[in-house]
Amino acid sequence: MKRRSAALWALGLMMAAAPVAAEQVHGAHEHGVAELRVAIDGGAIELEFASPLDSLVGFEHAPRTAAQRKAFTAAEAVLRDPAQVFAVPAGAGCEPKDVTLASPWSQRAADGRAPEPGAADDGDPGHAELVARYRLECARPAALDVLQIRLFPAFPRLREIRAERVSPRGQAATRLTPRQASLAL
Ligand SMILES: [Zn+2]
Repeated sequence: MKRRSAALWALGLMMAAAPVAAEQVHGAHEHGVAELRVAIDGGAIELEFASPLDSLVGFEHAPRTAAQRKAFTAAEAVLRDPAQVFAVPAGAGCEPKDVTLASPWSQRAADGRAPEPGAADDGDPGHAELVARYRLECARPAALDVLQIRLFPAFPRLREIRAERVSPRGQAATRLTPRQASLAL
């Protein structure tokens, strides 16, 4: 792995280990705005998507009601399916190899268990984020020239994604919106 992308993913590992601290790592936690990091390294493309949970499900506490659990499960189902999150050129011959989601309540939402004793108070007004990471391996990475983000229709509260990419063409940053959801690679 090249040094630049190694540093990028070291940041991602920190976030995965301590998702509640993600806002400190990122600085801003702005509802409606998510962040995306994309790195192309040889034949692999890695994406890290970090969003306030408010932008995805409309709340940032442990799911309490059936409707909230359903919203959480539905959001995670979208994010676990790379085809619903983004598209890359078919000519690149990419196959998803790894998907991971991290958020403070993923497990509880999945199995419906009550919060554990001593867990954070449900009334805690603090913020929370979800981080999704994807790794694809591509037979023809030279064909990776654009990434199309498909998340906006599924998450209407999400109005902007601040995207950064590191690729053989260099580093760049772009703001993606529902009207302009393509990232040049
Ligand atoms: Zn928040």
